[in-house]
Amino acid sequence: MEEMRFNDISYKQFLNEEKLMGSRCKQCDALFLPPRPICIKCHGTEMEWVEMEGSGELTAFTCIAIGPPFMIEEGYNRKKPYCSGVVELKEGVRVDARIEGVDTNKPEDIKVGMPLSAKFLHREEKEDLRTFLAFEPL
Ligand SMILES: [Zn+2]
Repeated sequence: MEEMRFNDISYKQFLNEEKLMGSRCKQCDALFLPPRPICIKCHGTEMEWVEMEGSGELTAFTCIAIGPPFMIEEGYNRKKPYCSGVVELKEGVRVDARIEGVDTNKPEDIKVGMPLSAKFLHREEKEDLRTFLAFEPL
């Protein structure tokens, strides 16, 4: 575990293993997700891995009708928008993710502050496994 660098590549590898990992500054305890090698608060370079529990609440969201091509491939369109949100984890960090299990045709029913839990969406891409972070209501 110590050998994993604090960057996006490691972050994605952990997502493939269904682990949501951030980095914590050993000097000032600041937490970063995705992980950063250098603390933006104190410029410390001593980081350690921290696994997030994966529960949090919705702090902002938007329903997107015209998404990138891979979202269109998954069947999202004007009639079936997808929801992208910002989730504040119990650990106190915020992360961007897809919000699933909500009715995007009734955005008024999607509430800021609703409790969510993490799920991992695996996609095969040219023999590569890619994993996307998503959240769904508890
Ligand atoms: Zn720091």
